[in-house]
Amino acid sequence: MLALDLKRVAAFVREADTEELLDRVTVYRVGMEPVALDLMEAELDRRGVTRSDIADHHIERRQRAILLPDGSALRCNFCVRPAVVRRWGWHRAFGVLPVFPLVFARCEKHEK
Ligand SMILES: [Zn+2]
Repeated sequence: MLALDLKRVAAFVREADTEELLDRVTVYRVGMEPVALDLMEAELDRRGVTRSDIADHHIERRQRAILLPDGSALRCNFCVRPAVVRRWGWHRAFGVLPVFPLVFARCEKHEK
């Protein structure tokens, strides 16, 4: 396993949206490095997000997110949010020409 670049993780955590950090410590927790989780939880704490806010976020996500067998959430194909639907769409070459149909996982923002 590659050594975890703590500086890089710390920089990411400082810049990340609160929503993204909340997703990472809940539905994306499986497979996350314990050190990275500590950093994220410390950052959420610094931003005034409580344990109960985190638990609420987890409950809310689990109600809509598509969960994988390991308990983590399926990720949207277009961003880092958890996907809520899977739908057929066209894979487009250069973003224009439809090439072949694919199932895309979409979050609440990319559902439409
Ligand atoms: Zn999305």
